[in-house]
Amino acid sequence: MDRVIGNNEIYYMFTCPRMFYFFLQDETENIVVENALENDRISNVKDYFKNISWVDAKKNIEITKRTANNEADILNPLFEGVINGVKLRLAVHALIRKKEKYQIVISHLSRRPSKRHHVIASTFILLSRQNGLTVSDNIIFLRKKSMKIQKIKDDGYQLFFETFQEITNRKSPPPASGTRICNFCGFWEKCHSFNVDDRSKLPVSSIRGIGTNMSTMMKSYGIDTLGDLIDAPLTGELDEKIKNIRRYKLQAFSFVKDTALFLNPPEKLIKNEQNNGVYFDIEADDSPYLFGFLQNNDYKYFLLDDNNSRNSQIEAIMKYIERLQVNLYHYCEYENRVLRELSNELKQQLKNEKKADLGTKFLRSFYDTPMIDIYEIIIKNIFTPLRHYSLKSIAKWLGFKWRIGLDGRSSIQEYRRWLNTGNKKHLEALLLYNEDDCRATRIVKEWISNPSDFEHKFIILNRRDVDDILKIK
Ligand code: SF4
Repeated sequence: MDRVIGNNEIYYMFTCPRMFYFFLQDETENIVVENALENDRISNVKDYFKNISWVDAKKNIEITKRTANNEADILNPLFEGVINGVKLRLAVHALIRKKEKYQIVISHLSRRPSKRHHVIASTFILLSRQNGLTVSDNIIFLRKKSMKIQKIKDDGYQLFFETFQEITNRKSPPPASGTRICNFCGFWEKCHSFNVDDRSKLPVSSIRGIGTNMSTMMKSYGIDTLGDLIDAPLTGELDEKIKNIRRYKLQAFSFVKDTALFLNPPEKLIKNEQNNGVYFDIEADDSPYLFGFLQNNDYKYFLLDDNNSRNSQIEAIMKYIERLQVNLYHYCEYENRVLRELSNELKQQLKNEKKADLGTKFLRSFYDTPMIDIYEIIIKNIFTPLRHYSLKSIAKWLGFKWRIGLDGRSSIQEYRRWLNTGNKKHLEALLLYNEDDCRATRIVKEWISNPSDFEHKFIILNRRDVDDILKIK
């Protein structure tokens, strides 16, 4: 095994073993790394231990060793080595010198330290020993403004090694279990390119909506695999006992046949189509701050920030929408809700300023603009051969590629960095991300309207076709 296992790979190993399996098989450095949050974890260490004069080892093994020889406190220390034949290169957030020993600091954003934090701590202790450093097994786990010290035993490393062996020895990839990290996954295409035979043998939990309890329930009816689920006749008992069995059967069919199922013809799914429409997406932290619109190839954005009057900013958004006179497409109901709230806020404000007529005009223009939720259309009318129906998932399936590796959470970090530093590169990253969300929404909408323009298989079902797939008894 020549692949070097680092912090990210351990994260993937415990978040989606399937991704880790692909990583081990892959020849290229294909893994996409999410580093955005790491800076915040390090900042947290510096904020918490304000009085320490750190030496930043910058994840460099030579600097780590040199600084350790000087017995200084180390930020970003890294060690590498081979344990049980596995090459490892691991960093922790800091090492604090305490009575002849170093103590590991791991900063985490999750509520509690997770399995992978224990694995990293335990393995880092072993690597430190190999590199001649004595490290305490009392680990400082730091979360925002609180810390706790926990004793770590070798079982963290054992858990890593057992999981590693289990995944390495597999003859086929483990089932898909990623969610948020699917957005970053460099193996997305591989993950979704099963052949049909493979898919029917997968456990029922491989498809959207089926968790452990539902798998157990299905098992009691002799349904273990997706093939079983498709073949099971829909008896009255099954229909009564397993809520959503109809959806599960259609979802399984779509997944196994790698074919999208349209319950209504495309031309009936989107109404009032005029011109090309405008694609709209909002980025939000505690409240919405960025409103992006894509019309043809022109991307326009509005910011809601503290630098200008809130009213004038909302007014600018509403005036823009008023002028559009085309369908406004978005993904999920959030965008619609926010615009509604903002237009009500503006109306109230203008009423207070005794300009009620203007407020009513804006509100009317907002309600005159057809807002079309692409996600709602899909959920109600289409089954796709995918585990997740997020914009990222469906657009990636259709071949769309984001130009920047952000997601909802890391975009918030990027926004906060922009607010804190004023550095434009953070805003530029957000705009790129937001524009691509609008572009992705357009691709999905185009697919719904004209699925035959895409190479992905689809069938338009009538009622009898649906009954045949369900195998109604
Ligand atoms: S796409 Fe998602 S489920 Fe598939 S391997 Fe990657 S992280 Fe795992």
